[in-house]
Amino acid sequence: MKITIIGTGYVGLVTGACLAEIGHDVFCLDVDQRKIDILNNGGVPIHEPGLQEMIARLRAHGRITFSTDVKASVEHGEIQFIAVGTPPDEDGSADLQYVLEASRNIGRYMNGFKVIVDKSTVPVGTAERVRAVVADELAARGFGNSAQHSFSVVSNPEFLKEGAAVDDFMRPDRIVIGNDDDEAGLLAREKMKRLYAPFNRNHERTLYMDVRSAEFTKYAANAMLATRISFMNEMSNLADRVGADIEAVRRGIGSDPRIGYHFLYAGVGYGGSCFPKDVQALVRTASENGHRLRILEAVEDVNHEQKEVLVRKIERSLGQDLSGRTFAVWGLSFKPNTDDMREASSRRVIAALLARGAHVRAYDPVALDEARRVLALDLKETPDALTRVSFVTTQEEALAGADALVILTEWKEFKSPDFVSIKAALKSPVIFDGRNLYEPQAMAELGIDYYAIGRPHVQ
Ligand code: NAD
Repeated sequence: MKITIIGTGYVGLVTGACLAEIGHDVFCLDVDQRKIDILNNGGVPIHEPGLQEMIARLRAHGRITFSTDVKASVEHGEIQFIAVGTPPDEDGSADLQYVLEASRNIGRYMNGFKVIVDKSTVPVGTAERVRAVVADELAARGFGNSAQHSFSVVSNPEFLKEGAAVDDFMRPDRIVIGNDDDEAGLLAREKMKRLYAPFNRNHERTLYMDVRSAEFTKYAANAMLATRISFMNEMSNLADRVGADIEAVRRGIGSDPRIGYHFLYAGVGYGGSCFPKDVQALVRTASENGHRLRILEAVEDVNHEQKEVLVRKIERSLGQDLSGRTFAVWGLSFKPNTDDMREASSRRVIAALLARGAHVRAYDPVALDEARRVLALDLKETPDALTRVSFVTTQEEALAGADALVILTEWKEFKSPDFVSIKAALKSPVIFDGRNLYEPQAMAELGIDYYAIGRPHVQ
């Protein structure tokens, strides 16, 4: 089938590549000329395991096209995926300007029946707004009632995880499709069914529902996951106070199948481009409908405070004035296997250390360039602080002569480091671990002063 993907970010690029991989003819559009140039020169503008190799192969076989040509993109695909960003507006609601601009373009150039798919995470009711925008454009072109220019808007939210996006797309737990039940809606559903048929070969994974429920499902899923994390973070803060070990508690409750082990890790808070903005947007949708989502308000508050928990531990151990101290920071991206720095906890922790006068030497396996870019923006009002952070390309360089090691992302390569070398490299053997990677008892036996989240500090 001929598919157009609008937006070549984390979701659009992975969706486009995976649909091309299973045999579809895919046209990827972006307004960002820089991204399109990188893609046309054989590169990939984001880090996502497996993606670069897949795209190189697809390009070589002519199965995927990257372009900024809006008219050609609309004319290409009978299915038009909208996968543009929906960042938070000032009031927390989802900013739909990019979604609506993409919709306008479809209306402006469409040349036959189109299935318009909202793949971006959009608030309940957005499909109706997309429909109205497309209809207005068609009316302006004099095609208001043209059967040849009919269309239907489908909601098909994306559940992939950055860092495992290709795998998640290729082996989805479920595919959610929300469609209207009029003639165009049922035709759109049939086309979506054909499109995703290869993913349903062994068992049916697609859940069909009405459009509003599909839109809501995405927010409810992210809100639930964010709630589990904030719940565990609250428990960890109490564990710190009562002398319990949150890791033991995690195993103790995760073994109950009604609870399960996933998403039960305490740490320095969740980040990324989805949980923070989607929780905020759902709270906002509720308030627009005269309702309060009190649990989610608390989930947000807890997460905001959690990003400072490790800094408070550092202050308790080393004092509030950290001038003259140097911290080695391992891990900058909001989670492993991605270079995404959106809402990463490292941004808050590093800014807090710098604000207390410290120097920071930061290392990340893939997010260094992105970290350098976003921290320069975060710290533009405090140029002096910015001069005290440097970015290094090995774990060892970060450690050399530092006062302590601070761990902020659970990259695999941090899980079993050479503790003897760490001890030798640091000025004094102190680790502040925001991801609970090590065992407090083992650290004490190695003579390392080890502080984790919700875990005992063993002397
Ligand atoms: P992103 O910011 O990485 O990419 C969005 C892209 O859209 C950018 O390259 C931008 O230049 C492009 N764009 C903007 N307006 C455009 C237009 N009018 N025409 C063509 N291109 C345009 O965003 P992302 O992380 O891929 O997220 C996209 C959507 O998917 C969001 O709604 C997000 O909430 C949702 N989502 C993201 C993830 C994730 O893990 N990143 C997972 C599930 C859902």
